[in-house]
Amino acid sequence: MIIGILKEPFFETRVSLLPEHVVLLKKQNIQVKVQSGSGTNAFGSDENYLSAGAEILKREDVLTTSDVILSMHPISDEEMKMLKARTLLIGTYNPLSQIKSVKNWTQFGHTVFSLDMLPRTTRAQSMDVLSSQANIAGYRAVIMAAAQLPKYFPMFMTAAGSIAPAKILILGAGVAGLQAIATARRLGAVVEVFDTRPSVKEEVMSLGGKFVEVEGAADASLAGGYGVVQTEDYLKKQQQRIAEVAVKADVIICTAQIPGKRAPVLITEEILNKMKAGSLIIDLAASTGGNTAKTVDKETIVYNQVSIIGDSNLSAGMPADASKLYGKNMLNFLALFISKEGELNLNFDDDLVKGACVVHEAEVVNERVKEMLISDNLTDSI
Ligand code: NAD
Repeated sequence: MIIGILKEPFFETRVSLLPEHVVLLKKQNIQVKVQSGSGTNAFGSDENYLSAGAEILKREDVLTTSDVILSMHPISDEEMKMLKARTLLIGTYNPLSQIKSVKNWTQFGHTVFSLDMLPRTTRAQSMDVLSSQANIAGYRAVIMAAAQLPKYFPMFMTAAGSIAPAKILILGAGVAGLQAIATARRLGAVVEVFDTRPSVKEEVMSLGGKFVEVEGAADASLAGGYGVVQTEDYLKKQQQRIAEVAVKADVIICTAQIPGKRAPVLITEEILNKMKAGSLIIDLAASTGGNTAKTVDKETIVYNQVSIIGDSNLSAGMPADASKLYGKNMLNFLALFISKEGELNLNFDDDLVKGACVVHEAEVVNERVKEMLISDNLTDSI
């Protein structure tokens, strides 16, 4: 079997597998072909891949000769046409946000897996790229905030006077939010946290955060742990409560998201107008619209002397460890259907193989993607 690793688009710093992961595949007698320059930004040079036993080739040669293609971002339809028949493509393609592309993929006869569609079960944890990357994003959000805030994070009592600790508000206590709490607490900040899932209260408190409760949230227990859309009434109540904390905050870290939907607007223009001058918002939900009324994805804007940084790809700012963890997630996923001897055995009775598969045998097979196609009236290909 031949596994091909592609160089990612210009905006991406990470790579699907590093040389240290290639060594493990070689032990299974798997041939690995790497597009030249794939790992440069993640500090995996072509020489490192060669030493690990990979071949270094031009992109076209990787595309046309591999049985499995690894790329974090989707390749173009033109490149899909160049692949061998029935190639497996594996990445993090965010199919719920690009439903029209998914529909196109059905015409090429390849099998497409997207790791962000894996069910969030205990067995899936070792291959959960959303978690490994969100953990980095939560950490980096706090480090960036600490570096940019015109104030200290910890409390200080000095001969020149006392400094109060910074007040951090974290919206959403999923993987990124929990890591942000832990990192901000390590730096000595006071941390308050909102989430619609009351079940995270204990985790928040065990990390040293204060959980701010708003009663009446929609039940998310059947949504696989994800957030769900809330009623207008609840959102209004929540915004009022958030406003009370936000006006005193030095930093707000936004992580509240609902898969396949626009992120909830929790920091309204009215709240922004009342925030402290010099305060900072880091919005990790920017790519799905952001948790503030003014967030612009991939941009920093200043509104009412509040800086709003819209960045949903913070893990790419730490490409070495981000790729190391992503690559380990990928190896664990490959192990579901590649034997120790390097033989392919796709078993769609396995809930993880089935759950991560988006397109197979010219059909959309993922239930969540199918539902979205139906709601977007794009159903003729399923
Ligand atoms: P996410 O990025 O989709 O959302 C982040 C957080 O935002 C969630 O906690 C969500 O409840 C919250 N949120 C949504 N709407 C909100 C609102 N209006 N106000 C405030 N908060 C709001 O979530 P994630 O970090 O990917 O994790 C989702 C869930 O999956 C979590 O429960 C996590 O513990 C669970 N999980 C399970 C596994 C596993 O078992 N394999 C792995 C990782 C995460």
